[in-house]
Amino acid sequence: MEIIKDPSQNQSVLKTNLSFRSFIRLINEKVKSSYIQSKLISCLVSLTLVLLSNLPSESGIWIRPLSVKQGEVIVISGLFYPFGNSYSFLGDCQITFENKNYKFFREIVNYEVFKGSQGLAGFQYTTRLATTPLTKAGSKQALLLCPLGQQSFDLSVTSGNFPLQNIQLSKSKNSLESTDKETQAINKALATNSLYKLWSSEKAWVHPSNAATSSVYGLRRTYNGKLAENYFHKGLDFAAFSGSPVVAPARGKVILAGYEKEGFAVHGNCLFIDHGQGVISGYLHLSTISVEEGQEVEPGQLIGKVGDTGIATGPHLHFGLYVGGLNVNPTPWLQYGMP
Ligand SMILES: [Zn+2]
Repeated sequence: MEIIKDPSQNQSVLKTNLSFRSFIRLINEKVKSSYIQSKLISCLVSLTLVLLSNLPSESGIWIRPLSVKQGEVIVISGLFYPFGNSYSFLGDCQITFENKNYKFFREIVNYEVFKGSQGLAGFQYTTRLATTPLTKAGSKQALLLCPLGQQSFDLSVTSGNFPLQNIQLSKSKNSLESTDKETQAINKALATNSLYKLWSSEKAWVHPSNAATSSVYGLRRTYNGKLAENYFHKGLDFAAFSGSPVVAPARGKVILAGYEKEGFAVHGNCLFIDHGQGVISGYLHLSTISVEEGQEVEPGQLIGKVGDTGIATGPHLHFGLYVGGLNVNPTPWLQYGMP
């Protein structure tokens, strides 16, 4: 097992432990004989092997980090340089973690990302495993399932030490529940699984509001004194004045603009942005919305204004971040970014 530092996040990462690597090698050989040749490009393969005889040693499977706090994300990626140390089979695999299946997303990467040289393109297969405050702390097993075999590996989740907060709701808003329309529209938005990552791995996400944060992610809550079972604060609150700007934190596409007057009784005027690869951000309780569904947004672009629509104790921005439909902690994304 080789533990190294991930230069982008200064975290300990695992780069293909031995059993994992031999498993990968086994699969590669099978893949080479069946998949590549069946694609009738073996002629191109031999040509390219000559040209690219000095293949990047960074090819491999990366798991980073090996240990997360509840609410954080584990990134698993396989680098694949064509016709060399092939990890292309990852496109046919999935990972099972905490009873949830994650598929791999393929993207083209350039060797310069790793070595400062140009012109050598490869592929990266990436998936991001989500944890939440409801993920029990402890050591976990994830299972890589491929058509040609499977391999489990160990991960660890530690407590996020989330505090408890009591919320007093006003009577007028006490009885409000999500309408069917609201629930269906939001569930549909959160199930979006676009192939391409739109955000930049190298940059921290922009704070959607420049106000101070009030409620942190993961707070457990009591409502009028009663503990809400299985409830946790599913985002980060910014204590902003009504009418202050809300900006997009990263590149993405608006997939839902919901309005209180059209039945969004709980979330109020709200926006959901697809950043690609199952990563969605949400903005609740807005006073006004400045973008439309289908519109692409850039980091820092005005998307709406803070308000107190829906169930809100006062004007604030609730910023939620979802990976594969699960609410993850946005704070590390705002501090360091996300590969
Ligand atoms: Zn909130």
